[in-house]
Amino acid sequence: MTLEEQDKKYVLQTYARDYTHFVKGVGSTLYDESGKAYIDFASGIGVNSVGHGNEVLTSAICQQAKNIIHISNLQVIEPQAKLAQKIVELSGYDMGVFFANSGAEANEGAIKIARKYGETKFKKKRYKVITLEHSFHGRTITTVKATGQEHFHTPHFSPYPDGFSYEKSIADVYNAIDDETVAVLIELVQGEGGVQPFEKEEIQKLAQYLKSKDILLIVDEVQTGVYRTGAFLASNLYEIEPDIITLAKGLGGGVPIGAVMTKHKEVLGAGDHGSTFGGNYLSTTAGLAVLKILEELYERGIISETFIYFEEKLKQIASKYNNLFDKEVGLGLMRGLRAKNAKIQTSVIQNSLNEGVIVLKAGRNTVRFLPSLTIKKTEIDEGFKRFEKAIHTL
Ligand SMILES: *Cc1c(COP(=O)(O)O)cnc(C)c1O
Repeated sequence: MTLEEQDKKYVLQTYARDYTHFVKGVGSTLYDESGKAYIDFASGIGVNSVGHGNEVLTSAICQQAKNIIHISNLQVIEPQAKLAQKIVELSGYDMGVFFANSGAEANEGAIKIARKYGETKFKKKRYKVITLEHSFHGRTITTVKATGQEHFHTPHFSPYPDGFSYEKSIADVYNAIDDETVAVLIELVQGEGGVQPFEKEEIQKLAQYLKSKDILLIVDEVQTGVYRTGAFLASNLYEIEPDIITLAKGLGGGVPIGAVMTKHKEVLGAGDHGSTFGGNYLSTTAGLAVLKILEELYERGIISETFIYFEEKLKQIASKYNNLFDKEVGLGLMRGLRAKNAKIQTSVIQNSLNEGVIVLKAGRNTVRFLPSLTIKKTEIDEGFKRFEKAIHTL
């Protein structure tokens, strides 16, 4: 049986999967079983924040794995406490952290905090959460309902929890608020929706308004967090103080971890929320190693050098191939090329893979780039050389 046959026979076919089989990774290069090299501009959808085979991360994981991988949350866990402190200090916000295992789970935690806040702080219960069209918040029954894309709300999985509504734009949120609204949940740069950043002033104005109405601002930083947009959090870049922030993708460098942090530390008490695996020795040790690596690169200005270099390359491509792309979009190392149409988007992604460079899809017509934050200039150069080769005949 081939690997493809095995996968098709035994794995539930929930992904429209490609059968390139990677067997080795070094930095931002992946190798398939034939030895062919691919420049990785996707990093496992923004997860491999420090690339493949990073020595500091892998040795931290190995060392921890040889000792304790997991206990339970019934005892205190040193790397969990340290990682919570590190995240809070890097964020600059006075918050407390709860650890989960994924982005969807982090958002579930955020919604639970908001719901309890709405239940306990007001005379009349507030429970409604407003999100935006084209948003993406996860695949659990609740977070898929929070996701502002109708095609995700298929009747297959109904009934969904009540209390979610979607607005076309930030400007529309104001009118959608009623006396049962407890929170507004947004991404500052919509990732899956098409790498679409919001205007800073617009977000600041909304944050101020919500604060004046005692409505919570939840920022889903599952994709934008952990230096992806150039600052530790996109919330730092936008200079806002959200009530609740969620993290996941880049935080563990590939080890599953999610986190929800809030300044309303008193809302959840013992028994309100929990997770068997969340915040265990292995994942929080990985998180600490990732933040150690990235904090240092950030302090030395390397991350901003990298994203300026990457952005320049993308701008050149966007103007040289204006027959294929309308513009370059995104922030930091969360970037996209807005293709003229979905057909071009699909061909660009497929041709790129054939030429040995991995790029992603986002929204209906965006080619997305989420390289590792440790990617080298030589890897960026090589990746774009291959990318041009892949698209110049289209
Ligand atoms: C990926 C993503 C999620 C879901 O994360 P999972 O780990 O797949 O559950 C939620 N929100 C945003 C903004 C994301 O990019």
